[in-house]
This record gives sequence, C-alpha cells and structure tokens, in this order.
Amino acid sequence: MKTDITDVLSMENMIAERQVETDLTSFRSKLGEFSIIRKAPFTLHLENQENKRVLIFGETDVTVAVPCDRCLEEVPVDIRLVIDWTYPLADAESVEDEDAADTSYVAGTTLDIDRLIYDEILVNWPMKVLCREGCKGICRKCGANLNQKACSCDRTEPDPRMAAIQDIFNQFKEV
Ligand SMILES: [Zn+2]
Ligand SMILES: [Zn+2]
Repeated sequence: MKTDITDVLSMENMIAERQVETDLTSFRSKLGEFSIIRKAPFTLHLENQENKRVLIFGETDVTVAVPCDRCLEEVPVDIRLVIDWTYPLADAESVEDEDAADTSYVAGTTLDIDRLIYDEILVNWPMKVLCREGCKGICRKCGANLNQKACSCDRTEPDPRMAAIQDIFNQFKEV
C-alpha cells in the first residue's frame, strides 16, 4: 500500500501514526520468488523534526515460505522487520546521511510501504534455512527426501560435515 503523509511533510514537528500493511503477497529476488504466508497491519510512526527531516519507524514481522537448503521442502520463516528510515526534506540545508538520500520511499507526498517492507525483507533475509536440525536432505541419486524415507541407493551414511559443505556449495550457487 501507499500512504499519504502530506500532514507530516508540511507541518513542522508534526508527529503522526499510521496503521499500514503491505500489499506484497510474495517476495521476489535473485534467489527466486517466495510466498509471504503471514503479515499483519502495524503502526508506523512518523515524526517531522524541525522541517529538516522526517523520521519513519515501526516494527512488524512477516512469515515467508523458504525452501530448506538441504531437502527443498518449504519452511515457514519468521522475519522480523525493523523500519527505521530518515527522509531528508527537500529544503534541508544538508543531508547528513547520504545513504538515506539514496533510496527514496517517498514520491511526492506518498510513502510507499511496500518498498519499505521489500527492502527490510531483503536485508533480513535468512542466511541459512533448515526444515529441522540435522535435516538429511535429498538423495543425490534418486531424489528421495531422506527425512521421509530411506532409499536403497548405494551411498555412504549422511555425514554432517558433508551436509555443511553442501550448504556452502548451495550458497555459492545462489550468488
Ligand atoms: Zn530439510
Ligand atoms: Zn536414493
């Protein structure tokens, strides 16, 4: 969703709150597309500071379906999102934080909630997703999910060190 913030942009020292929610139903990145299976409305705080900047902050969490690194079964992953962004106002003498000026979530008088949420998911994306501790992964020969059944393929017992190497290998593949 987008929310109008004309009041906070135009009134010095105005403090406001907005109930917002993202319209995103999936998260798409270079790793693929992932369903957002849970999200909720949350309160976004907005604070005009002496007409120099607007502080925008709030917290929420979403649950995203991410495939297990080893067996590829989808795992619901809770991702905590902490929004804390400073919007420098156009007539500010100097922009103190250049990073903040790079990415603008504001177009005109409208704040783009979905872009804020998207970027927060991106920076908080889990490094490693396992469906369970010691997931046995899939058999490389027949593709069976070894958590569900043993297959009769000739292979050595799953070795946790091998699994770790496999995870590293998968991470390289995804970059
Ligand atoms: Zn797994
Ligand atoms: Zn097999």
